[in-house]
Amino acid sequence: MTTVSQPTLFDIDEHEISYRPRPAKLFRPQRIIFAKGSVSTPQRQALAERICSAYPQAAVEEQLGTAHNKIDLGIADPLQLHYEGRRTLVLAEHKSALGRSDEEGNTCPNFWHFSPYGYCPYGCSYCYLAGTQGIRFSPTVKVFMNLDEILAQVDKQARKIGRPEAFYLGKLQDGMALDPLTGYSRVMIPFFADHPYARLRVLSKSADFENVLDLDHRGHTVLCWSLNPPEVRRDYEVVTPSIEDRIDAMRKCAIAGYPIRVMLMPIVPIPNWREAYGDLLEKLLTKVKVDRITLGGVCSYGPALNVTHEKLGEDNAIVKSLTIVNDGPDDGRTRYSHELRAELYAFMRDTIRRFQPELTVALCMESRAIAEEVGVAENIGKCICIL
Ligand code: SF4
Repeated sequence: MTTVSQPTLFDIDEHEISYRPRPAKLFRPQRIIFAKGSVSTPQRQALAERICSAYPQAAVEEQLGTAHNKIDLGIADPLQLHYEGRRTLVLAEHKSALGRSDEEGNTCPNFWHFSPYGYCPYGCSYCYLAGTQGIRFSPTVKVFMNLDEILAQVDKQARKIGRPEAFYLGKLQDGMALDPLTGYSRVMIPFFADHPYARLRVLSKSADFENVLDLDHRGHTVLCWSLNPPEVRRDYEVVTPSIEDRIDAMRKCAIAGYPIRVMLMPIVPIPNWREAYGDLLEKLLTKVKVDRITLGGVCSYGPALNVTHEKLGEDNAIVKSLTIVNDGPDDGRTRYSHELRAELYAFMRDTIRRFQPELTVALCMESRAIAEEVGVAENIGKCICIL
């Protein structure tokens, strides 16, 4: 009989009592709000207090009767609200943090995802999360203090499935940006390492993976990075760690034995995109052995694109390249034109094959027709977020 090892309450309690938070790089909250469930156990209270001590300049307030997605910052202007949200850390609990994606009309397989964090402290002007319903109302950065309950949900679902299954952290947040603050990786990675079925996939733009390097992950955790050339980061991912630092973190994690995957998405067709992406791929693929790479462009819904427009105006490579009429899979998202996407993907495919010919290249949120045109249809479903 297979025994299922779960994080015991003691593991998590011990972590909450003993972990020493470090400020998350590029995140300087001015307010920390204790929302519903944030301090409802002595252990959560202990971790919450130490998170606050990492940010002595932040004003701390209690809204213990308010759920994480109902915190009202009292700002009407959507852009100002968005900026204020990035300066506000909400500690809370999330009772339904495990979800299943619900994609139709493109070739992406559906997958399990979970949320010990909500939203993100970084600042990408194309971020589709800005347009999602809960975040539009309350675009704060959230840490959910009930990690024990969240992992219990993962465990229950994985046991129900009864065979290895991926659980993805990075769909509704950056998966590692707040890890220095919470140290959650030091509970999650051992949990997944011991689990017979549940496997962890984490997507991030962070360069701080110090917490994970000494862990015995047993290959059950795959670390994934989102990358773009420095020119794109400078203009569209303003508040994110440098590309060099990210590649350096990838290299260290690869040495620690983690499988490494890359998300090249959204590819942005800046005027010198061939040169910029060629240099990036050369730098990356000559330094790090990559297991899979997923390619995609901007593909987003109206509300998120409105925030992008507000931030960037009209005269930029993203806004100018989006087609007014949806020109891709029939899933309601707006994308670049079919011709431009095919050209971008074909260039990336050829460049990748020059440096790592065996690397699996897949497309994200695309149609079978374009995957066939680019010659990567055999990799449909072999993307970063699944097994
Ligand atoms: S890192 Fe990801 S989640 Fe965070 S702002 Fe950028 S796109 Fe959004």
